Amino acid sequence: MTASPSTNPIADRVTAVAAELPPSVRLIGVAKKHPASAIRAAYQAGLRDFGESMVQEAIAKQAELTDLDGLTWHLIGHLQSNKARKALEHFDWIHSVDSLKIATRLDTIAAAMARSPSCCLQVKMVPDPAKFGFALEDLWAALPQLNQLEHLKIVGLMTIPPLESSMAEVQAIFQQAQMLAEQINQQGFDRLHLSELSMGMSGDYPVAIAAGSTMIRLGTTLFGDRPA
Ligand SMILES: *Cc1c(COP(=O)(O)O)cnc(C)c1O
Repeated sequence: MTASPSTNPIADRVTAVAAELPPSVRLIGVAKKHPASAIRAAYQAGLRDFGESMVQEAIAKQAELTDLDGLTWHLIGHLQSNKARKALEHFDWIHSVDSLKIATRLDTIAAAMARSPSCCLQVKMVPDPAKFGFALEDLWAALPQLNQLEHLKIVGLMTIPPLESSMAEVQAIFQQAQMLAEQINQQGFDRLHLSELSMGMSGDYPVAIAAGSTMIRLGTTLFGDRPA
């Protein structure tokens, strides 16, 4: 008997990637620029975690997926202050807390909404003017104030290596992020327990997992090339 061709290649790719992951790693499907039907296809293979870069795009897709139970939404792109409320309404996780200012704003609004989102601090392990994220020295300086934000669950770090990095540099960046989380944990801040590492995309996720990633954010590998 010959195998019949799959009618759901996205589900097949989700199944194949998920089968290879250690149980400690959460797979987040990034269907940005793809339609809601792509998320529906991945859902059929059991995926429940989805990441979006843009608040408005996520809201539009969520409106088409209200029949799906148990979805967890992750904001992975830079958040502008004026979208903070919408982000809290529509996401369970915010991986891209990239300044003390946005963290403080999220905390204030989360308090008013009686929400407590899980958050990662996005950090630039090497200077990268093209990217959002805390510079290392700014992150260290902000820790005492971040520790005061009672309505955010700050549970990890997120990092994205600069585009032009070699694989050796990418590996070093992920290992340094893992060590940074440990160093921060050793400071004894009562509210900062960084057990999550959001790192790894389609081009580098095996390296990220080897360095201790707990959340990989995969777009192209699962959903194919993004429409321009
Ligand atoms: C687009 C995006 C991804 C997914 O990228 P791929 O290379 O397609 O896997 C992951 N993380 C962030 C922050 C993104 O913006």
